[in-house]
Amino acid sequence: APVLAIIGRPNVGKSTLVNRILGRREAVVEDVPGVTRDRVMYPAEWNGKRFTLVDTGGWEHDAKGIHASVAAQAEVAVEFSDAVLFVVDTTVGATSTDELVMKMLRKAKKPVILVANKVDDFVQEAEAAALWGLGFGEPWPVSAVHGRGVADLLDHAMKVLPEFSAVDATERSGGPRRIALIGRPNVGKSSLLNKLAGAERVVVNELAGTTRDPVDEFIELGGETWKFIDTAGIRRRQHMAHGSEYYASLRTQAALERSEVAVILLAVDETLSEQDVRIIQLAIESGRAMVLAFNKWDLLDEDRRRYLEREIEQDLAHVEWAPRVNISAKTGWHKDKLVPALDLALENWDRRIPTGKLNAFLGELVAAHPHPVRGGKQPRILFATQASSRPPKFVLFTTGFLDPGYRRFITRRLRETFDFRGTPIEVSMRVRE
Ligand code: GDP
Repeated sequence: APVLAIIGRPNVGKSTLVNRILGRREAVVEDVPGVTRDRVMYPAEWNGKRFTLVDTGGWEHDAKGIHASVAAQAEVAVEFSDAVLFVVDTTVGATSTDELVMKMLRKAKKPVILVANKVDDFVQEAEAAALWGLGFGEPWPVSAVHGRGVADLLDHAMKVLPEFSAVDATERSGGPRRIALIGRPNVGKSSLLNKLAGAERVVVNELAGTTRDPVDEFIELGGETWKFIDTAGIRRRQHMAHGSEYYASLRTQAALERSEVAVILLAVDETLSEQDVRIIQLAIESGRAMVLAFNKWDLLDEDRRRYLEREIEQDLAHVEWAPRVNISAKTGWHKDKLVPALDLALENWDRRIPTGKLNAFLGELVAAHPHPVRGGKQPRILFATQASSRPPKFVLFTTGFLDPGYRRFITRRLRETFDFRGTPIEVSMRVRE
């Protein structure tokens, strides 16, 4: 889906606008310095058009000052987006920081929509008009808090957003399969990439005619060509002074958005970190196929090995369905084990279970393990179907709400019976009255 980024100084109301657009009541996080957020890209829809919203509100501001961090924020948002909502606080007017952002946006040559926020009454509407001076055309007066003007703004934004994204290639199917190689800094992403690429590396610039670096790379593995997403981001060592967490999270999510399968790299010489767990969570939420690669196996000693087994059992229990491969990016040991795991995960991600087979399975399961009777009632499952694949999603038509525990039981049995290794699966219900 095309990507729309919301950028602007702290406190101009970005988070409120994000919540308004996503239709959420609660504020995600205030525009508080130092607050980081894991999720920065959100699926959104307006008038039937789907798009991805990038929220830069979680950017950390440090001692280098607002100027520098807002500029970096703008740069990143522009790199990952197809159009930009540039939010200005009408009650304050354009500041020198706004002017700086404006200059960057002009260079980026992406469509920019100027949003004059905090226009709660007529007096401020007049002040919004003064923002014409910024040179982005007509300012769109809105009140993110009250919702005023937001519908008109979105109508306009949908016209400006291209049909197909230049930064998100998921719509274009066919061609080499797309891999996102993700993991926290220093797990060995760059080393693995180099080992895999060897001499066969071909660099192709996806976005012909732009001045951007080639972002993706085609690598031949096991006689097949694979597209590694955003290798530029992996190779370019990011030592950003500020916003590095936000930046890393955005890169990871952007790579996941464009991929079909995620290889999550973990390093076995260190304990599993919170960041590792968060990255796994992002991958699960993205709905992509998944392989876990345990790197730096050459550094594993006996004590650590026992501990690792415990970690896998406890902390990684929720992804026990993901194929695991043990590798050493440094020596190249087991690098040929990646492809079979990727193939398996992708095959299952693509898979469709015929309706007859699915219902036969459910019939047997429900006969052997009926839903518990609750308050004299026992919801029945009438029929099931696989609504989609990539990843597989199933819908159960029922006569009442199923217990969450019972639904989890069905999901687990579905996974085991049809052996969905390497892919998340989803089971939802439609209750027929
Ligand atoms: P990235 O930040 O994830 O791209 O990590 P790098 O590829 O830059 O690797 C970080 C450090 O770990 C470097 O010093 C690598 O040489 C080292 N490293 C990566 N993979 C392995 C491995 O399999 N074994 C050992 N011993 N060191 C590794």
